[in-house]
Amino acid sequence: MRVYDLSPLLDADFPVWPGEPSVQVELIRDHARDGFAVSRLTMGSHVGCHVDAPYHFFAEGEKLMNLPLQRFLIWVQVVEAEGHGEILPQHIRGTRWPGGGGIVFKTGYYRQMRKEGGFYRDFRALSMEAASLLVESGIRFVGIDSPSIEPFRSETLEVHKLFARHGILILEGADLERVPPGEYFLMALPVPVSAADGVPVRALLFQPENEAERAALRNIGLA
Ligand SMILES: [Zn+2]
Repeated sequence: MRVYDLSPLLDADFPVWPGEPSVQVELIRDHARDGFAVSRLTMGSHVGCHVDAPYHFFAEGEKLMNLPLQRFLIWVQVVEAEGHGEILPQHIRGTRWPGGGGIVFKTGYYRQMRKEGGFYRDFRALSMEAASLLVESGIRFVGIDSPSIEPFRSETLEVHKLFARHGILILEGADLERVPPGEYFLMALPVPVSAADGVPVRALLFQPENEAERAALRNIGLA
């Protein structure tokens, strides 16, 4: 079984959304003085590869720490979405994703970010029309490599709100550079910290290579 890691290294150089805290990893105990090492971590809850809970843009929405872990284990279709401008309905029509599952858009964000050497504002994201089509089709989970599921200059944040109202989880900032389009089993597991809006995740895509591996993933049962 092939496994892809979607979570970038979070260090002080990781480009963060303008106005949000940068990543700080500070050694507050060290080997020479204390005989052991302990760090203090400081970061925003939406840095790097992370999930958005419905509460992020909807005060009555589900809070991240209350969501069952099963919601972060889901079959998804990774689709190629490179190009310019918003992702429109015509870019999605004809795309199939696993029943009860999700879709993950690969726009090439990380390549662009590394080329720019910093936060890249002109990232590709979903138009409201495309988001509505996904909701109508009964999607449960929507992911993207861009730092947001909707365009940087969106003032209404209507795509986030639409997904929040329908209890659809969002994965943003997933590094998909090495991932070919196709069907995968996604594990995007949040640290159980009491953040209601979102939290960085270690996200993995599993690509079964035979029916036995596929069945094993289908039958994962959390105790
Ligand atoms: Zn977010």
